[in-house]
Amino acid sequence: MIPASAYAAFDPNSPLKYWDFERRDLRPDDVEIDILFCGVCHSDLHAAKGEWGDVNRPFVPGHEIVGKVKAVGSSVTKYKVGDSVGVGCLVDSCLSCHECEDGLEQYCNHWVGTYMGMETGTGKPTYGGYSSKIVVKEHFVLKIPEGMDLAGAAPLLCAGITTYSPLRHWKVGPGQRVGVVGLGGLGHMGVKLAKAMGATVVVFTTSASKVEDAKRLGADEVVISKDEAAMAAEAGKFDFILNTVAVSHNLDPFLNALKRDGTLTLVGVPSEAHPSPGVQGLIFKRRSLAGSLIGGIAETQEMLDFCGQHGLTADIELIPMQGINTAYERMLKSDVKYRFVIDVSTLAKG
Ligand code: NAP
Ligand code: ZN
Repeated sequence: MIPASAYAAFDPNSPLKYWDFERRDLRPDDVEIDILFCGVCHSDLHAAKGEWGDVNRPFVPGHEIVGKVKAVGSSVTKYKVGDSVGVGCLVDSCLSCHECEDGLEQYCNHWVGTYMGMETGTGKPTYGGYSSKIVVKEHFVLKIPEGMDLAGAAPLLCAGITTYSPLRHWKVGPGQRVGVVGLGGLGHMGVKLAKAMGATVVVFTTSASKVEDAKRLGADEVVISKDEAAMAAEAGKFDFILNTVAVSHNLDPFLNALKRDGTLTLVGVPSEAHPSPGVQGLIFKRRSLAGSLIGGIAETQEMLDFCGQHGLTADIELIPMQGINTAYERMLKSDVKYRFVIDVSTLAKG
């Protein structure tokens, strides 16, 4: 076994703290990665606090991982020692079902999460990227484009692909008016990506203090979503709206903002269900309410390459590992500009 260390949640309510553990020995198709940076996703917080149900503890969050290849198994061909690589939300799947064959491993019935998963073969819990090392099957390792800032690249592995995949699936592009709800980690990447795809982008935010930032990030317009009159003025104007909000809220104003045949896609996963949307809002304009889960491996590589070509990375606040508990408190107050990224070199006992 390979010794590793991490910051872990020992119970739902206490601060995360240092933990020594082990990664598996390399299998022929495994890549051993020394982790340099790990983004802090709201999913980490939901999971660590038990908001999505019980997790194995100590629980190690983190699925926006960037590091350097330390060693490779005997059959690995795509990576060599020293390469800059990434790992996102999934570390395994069956690789033989229709979903996997279509490059949609995240919809495989047997996909294994980077955390909250069970390791294939051993049945042991998977542990995420708030840690010194990770061992991952080659298929689930991503190549970071040459010259990309490694800390700013980390959030692309979840926030980037979770927004890129629905924008691509619903064919967002020039001539379309696209809304992004919530300017947090996912939302700010959604704005950058939708803009790079050529759409007119409108941010819906609850935070008046984020208006200027939203414009700097690429938004053409900003609407304060708590302002009922401002929301009513947007009725029937949007082709597509991506909703990244992490708490339960009324979806009707966003459904009503869609044109005929428009789609509201949810990616936020609040612990409490949203109130049911009004049926009239859906049927009178043949609108759709949809959801989307991260993205497959090939599409994640496509997104990284797209970001490389367009010079896109996340706007980050780099924090030491010991700062993670304060970062969670700030995330709950929507006070993130716009993704915390842990400098894993600061990981130390105590
Ligand atoms: P985040 O950085 O905390 O951003 C969420 C944003 O939602 C906040 O910045 C805030 O933006 C807005 N918000 C917060 N409270 C609100 C309220 N009461 N009413 C309306 N808006 C509110 O979170 P994130 O990391 O982007 O994650 C967002 C959600 O996506 C989480 O639930 C996460 O678990 C989920 N997620 C899903 C997938 C997937 O595959 N579907 C993948 C990753 C994450 P404003 O200040 O602009 O209002
Ligand atoms: Zn995430």
